[in-house]
Amino acid sequence: MAAELWRLAGVLSAALLLGLLLGRPLLLLWLATLGYLGLHLWSLARVRRWLADSRGIYPPGAWGVWDEILDLVYRIRRSSLGRKRRLGRLLERFREAAAAMPDGAVVLRADGEIEWFSDAAARLLGLRAPQDVGRRILNLVRHPAFVRYFEGGDWSEPVEIPSPVRDGARLALQLIVYGDDQRLLIVRDVTRLARLEAMRRDFVANVSHELRTPVTVLLGYLEALEEDAECARRWARPLSLMREQTTRMHRIVDDLLMLARLETEEAAQRPGPGEEVDVPALLARIVAEARALSGPRRHRISLDAEQGLGLRGSEGELASAFTNLVVNAVQYTPDGGEIRVRWWSDADGAHLAVSDTGIGIASEHIPRLTERFYRVDVARSRATGGTGLGLAIVKHVLARHEARLHIESAVGRGSTFRCDFPAARIVRLALRRDGREGGSG
Ligand code: ADP
Repeated sequence: MAAELWRLAGVLSAALLLGLLLGRPLLLLWLATLGYLGLHLWSLARVRRWLADSRGIYPPGAWGVWDEILDLVYRIRRSSLGRKRRLGRLLERFREAAAAMPDGAVVLRADGEIEWFSDAAARLLGLRAPQDVGRRILNLVRHPAFVRYFEGGDWSEPVEIPSPVRDGARLALQLIVYGDDQRLLIVRDVTRLARLEAMRRDFVANVSHELRTPVTVLLGYLEALEEDAECARRWARPLSLMREQTTRMHRIVDDLLMLARLETEEAAQRPGPGEEVDVPALLARIVAEARALSGPRRHRISLDAEQGLGLRGSEGELASAFTNLVVNAVQYTPDGGEIRVRWWSDADGAHLAVSDTGIGIASEHIPRLTERFYRVDVARSRATGGTGLGLAIVKHVLARHEARLHIESAVGRGSTFRCDFPAARIVRLALRRDGREGGSG
């Protein structure tokens, strides 16, 4: 800018000097100013033309300060163009990567409207480009399990549905929330995995089924042998050991069959069972059995149940789950310890809590307790006749009743296993007046 001022001063001084020499200083000053202005206007027109024409990458030459300005604008333009090209290339590479992925990806808005999808998603879900962009995903993928999943809001795990385009194929769909309440739907073909899983399930179910008869026969003969006085006297110890082990095998086979049945129902995604279950009465029976099991170990077992609070579900399955929790409390609590069974409802739903003053569980084991055959102390579990399958059964039964298991425990102080059932499962039972009391004991 300073150079421009010098230039102006130079031109005006030269005009003034010449004017003085010629005796017409004002005229020459006026002519010089006019010329100066003209040059600027001419440069301005060139700059305007160059800016308007986006193809004109190289700036034309211009006069004075305009040359500097053109050079500056040119440099800014060039660097922003470079950035644009780099971003374009990056976007293209991302698109190619998304297209090359075997898993499909669908970008959704919070209300489920489709913004973009990859080729794999189109193939797996039968989406069409560009017609389906802008449509709601629930109008295109209508399987009830997916609709429930989408509207349920718990997307920590994927949901599995049959493929809408290929018979026999299965897809796993998972929603991921990112950015400004955007959603990404990942679609994966899990047909092979589902087949392997079904094979494993069938194998376990078949083996358990086949083992059941021989084990029952063995138990029958053992009983007969024990009834024979001579035999029972001579072979007392081996007979008792054989009986113990065979009974254990019987229990494992029964538990495995129960698990296989629960898993088959789950895999078929049949809605959970829906008979009315009188939970207070069921708990009263379970607690009576637990007292009998405790026998000489003299645990103090109490039941505090909200009368008339029932559940919609399967009585058999719930009985099995609750029995497992109460029996565990007895098995893992030293003689004379206290066990409390509570059943109540609040705004969140219905809850069953089984608390004991037993040996407790270290926190690192808690997340793994519901795995099959997972035991904190294998020898101890065996000694108490445990199969290691009890809590796995509890988990599956609860899943079929839309309930969750919550475990709190402190080593040496005791544990609380709590099952939380949704309010929708609650049924209010007409209170009986036959004096039957499912409650405190
Ligand atoms: P198990 O037949 O061995 O009892 P479960 O699946 O019922 O199998 O339980 C798994 C493991 O969890 C048990 O082996 C035990 O280590 C632990 N466990 C379960 N319930 C309790 C409890 N009330 N107190 C302490 N440990 C428990």
